[in-house]
Amino acid sequence: MVRVLDTAALLMWPPEKLAGGVCAASQRDELERVDTSRAMLAETVDLTWQDVPSTWLAEARTVAAASGDLPRLSDVDLDVLALALGLSAVLVTDDFRLRNAFASVDGSVEAAGVKKRTNVWSWALRCTGCGATSPVNEDAHRSKRDAVGECRTCGSPLVLKRSRR
Ligand SMILES: [Zn+2]
Repeated sequence: MVRVLDTAALLMWPPEKLAGGVCAASQRDELERVDTSRAMLAETVDLTWQDVPSTWLAEARTVAAASGDLPRLSDVDLDVLALALGLSAVLVTDDFRLRNAFASVDGSVEAAGVKKRTNVWSWALRCTGCGATSPVNEDAHRSKRDAVGECRTCGSPLVLKRSRR
């Protein structure tokens, strides 16, 4: 199944996920305006940059007008919609206008949004002397640089150490 990628996907997705996708030629210009390094990256990926035939664009306008989304769609949005329609592709987008317009003619839509990777860190106290670690408690001394306490075992300074939860 062909996937038409909107610009959000071009901006966010890792190269291996972009591979094989179809984008409108106008998105290439948009990407270059928005994020040069991303545009360079996109050039290294196996993407198809496709010109949009005027008949497909006309269909996109008709569909978007019928769903009521046309006034809010940009030229690039319309190109993306036209490609998705013309290729009977899966449309990858988070734009709810695009989504709505394409879904109104039973097009299948996939979200571009990637879950933000949330690195959860926890902090522990580590003794610079004996190496013992202990959890941070509420009365730990707060300082950006200085030792945050003294080791109960050996009396050496405690430092904060980051550990992945
Ligand atoms: Zn110690």
